[in-house]
Amino acid sequence: MIYTKIKTSDNETIKLPVDELDFFCKCPIYGEETEVPLFEFMDNGDFDIYCDVYCDKCSNETGNYRKKLSEMHIDYNSMPLDKLKEFFELIAPYTDK
Ligand SMILES: [Zn+2]
Repeated sequence: MIYTKIKTSDNETIKLPVDELDFFCKCPIYGEETEVPLFEFMDNGDFDIYCDVYCDKCSNETGNYRKKLSEMHIDYNSMPLDKLKEFFELIAPYTDK
């Protein structure tokens, strides 16, 4: 069992099992404190302890935009080259391609 050690105000050291701890971070959009399901993240692999975690409100908002964009079925074939380049430059930082 992995645990952490915390000193109390009486200078007493107590051991707490890591799986009983709650983890938090600040949402990168509005800065609200949000609980982080740390072990869920670790199970998914490719986990970075310095990653950003959106609060529920921002997650929902992000999901709504993703849904709207996927519903647009943008026809890239009819897009002129300058617009294709502009669109690519806009979305490239948000993809891993
Ligand atoms: Zn937020």
